[in-house]
Amino acid sequence: MSERGSAVVTGGSRGIGRAVAVQLAADGYDIAFCYRLGGDAAVQTEKEIRDLGVECYHAPCDVADLDSVQAFLGTAEEKLGETAVLVNSAGIVKDNPMVLMPAADWHAVIDTNLSGTYNFCRSAVFGFMKRKSGTIVNISSVAGVFGNPTQTNYSAAKSGIHGMSRALSKEVAKYGIRVNVVAPGFIDTDMTAGLSEKAREAALGMIPMNRIGNPDDVSDLVSFLVSERASYITGQVIQVDGGIAF
Ligand code: NDP
Repeated sequence: MSERGSAVVTGGSRGIGRAVAVQLAADGYDIAFCYRLGGDAAVQTEKEIRDLGVECYHAPCDVADLDSVQAFLGTAEEKLGETAVLVNSAGIVKDNPMVLMPAADWHAVIDTNLSGTYNFCRSAVFGFMKRKSGTIVNISSVAGVFGNPTQTNYSAAKSGIHGMSRALSKEVAKYGIRVNVVAPGFIDTDMTAGLSEKAREAALGMIPMNRIGNPDDVSDLVSFLVSERASYITGQVIQVDGGIAF
């Protein structure tokens, strides 16, 4: 087991979650990560983590289901020891103008992005309080900062993560626990791979740095936020977005 302890990353099989899991492995943490389906992507993430010489545990776990989350965290701690870091990256989109949005798509996006983040924070934070240490980074989105048309569900979920994280940071600061949010702009992952050329051009037009971000742009900030170098930073929402303006 690593002296650093273990880091739990939700949605670690692909995209930003994978970049975070691999970066935290490079930082010396053992890594537990979960996903909904996983498949070959999860196996690839595990390989990249183990190649860095740390331990790895991964399993399917629907973040929207509290019982599954508690079971996943329990097994992760049995295998890797106490959790030192929690990064909530699992997320989905189901876009539509509100007037066309089925209630099921509203609830699915809230349940995964917002309640999923609650489920993991709620399940991990008591252990953090007992040990008087621990760091949480929740991944939201610039949609939660500005609001994005066709994403009322997603924007609400991500804004909810901001409020929840700020409130939680105040509850647990006295236990030496820090809670921050990283709000990415457009990042090149499967989530944005389906964008039309027109939508991609429109996105670039809003980004002064004139490029779509990489998962590593996000994982570098997460790596900093969970480290001692960020020991006086809590309750913040930090954008990684090339200066995007909606
Ligand atoms: P991807 O679609 O590439 O990956 C999503 C990950 O979340 C996968 O590992 C997926 O698992 C997992 N996941 C989805 N639903 C669940 C669930 N119910 N339970 C457990 N795991 C689940 O997304 P990104 O990497 O692009 O996004 C990561 C985070 O960053 C999300 O919260 C997203 O909202 C946020 N974000 C992304 C941006 C972007 O431009 N890409 C911009 C701003 C924010 P599986 O593969 O098994 O389904």
